[in-house]
Amino acid sequence: MSLAIDIRNLRFRYGGGPWVLDIPELTLERGTRAFLFGPSGSGKTTLLGVLAGVLEANEGEVKVLGEDLGSLSGAQRDAFRAEHIGYVFQMFNLIPYLSVLDNIILPVRMHAGRRARLDGAGVKESAALLAGHLHIGDLLNKPVTELSVGQQQRVAACRALIGAPELIVADEPTSSLDFDRREDFLELLFQECERAGATLVFVSHDRALEGMFSRTISLPDVNKAVL
Ligand code: ADP
Ligand code: MG
Repeated sequence: MSLAIDIRNLRFRYGGGPWVLDIPELTLERGTRAFLFGPSGSGKTTLLGVLAGVLEANEGEVKVLGEDLGSLSGAQRDAFRAEHIGYVFQMFNLIPYLSVLDNIILPVRMHAGRRARLDGAGVKESAALLAGHLHIGDLLNKPVTELSVGQQQRVAACRALIGAPELIVADEPTSSLDFDRREDFLELLFQECERAGATLVFVSHDRALEGMFSRTISLPDVNKAVL
């Protein structure tokens, strides 16, 4: 089975600061639903940034979906991320003056590579289909500022999922929801990842959700950097 993530001897630090990541080896097979946990400050968000090509490793090799990120220029990494990676941010990062629909279609509006992945389907139709699957289909024309936190989270998930990127990374996106709603959201996220054949890396500091995933990675166990 081919690997979604293949990390060898990765080291990363911010500027001249201490090592934040020192990961001798970490691999993840495609199609996995991975739960990546560790306490606050253990480097979870930093690792997602390296995987998404937002942050550049100081040492070692980071392969994502078979692509060696170290061999790409900054612009090439940006294009690779836009086309192949859906990112659900911790604070959702929705654009407040845009509607639900316009927030969801932002990645395909901005990046031709992602647009090409719609495979002939209309942009609005694809957004409406995803929104329906995540039970926010009747909110498409609302400003995101009028939505509840749970609804905003689903918009953020739709935006990550549109164009069916092969890798979805989610940074503690459920922390502000109660447990039943988190389980419910995760079920929907899993369904969409399965439909698209996507690999999911879901980050949390809370192990209560661990049982829902097919693989658990303890960051403090794989990360040798002393934080
Ligand atoms: P987590 O997501 O697990 O809470 P982070 O990846 O955010 O952890 O942080 C890991 C370490 O890196 C922490 O010590 C944090 O203070 C530091 N750090 C995070 N972002 C930056 C940054 N932009 N500049 C300098 N240090 C940072
Ligand atoms: Mg974090």
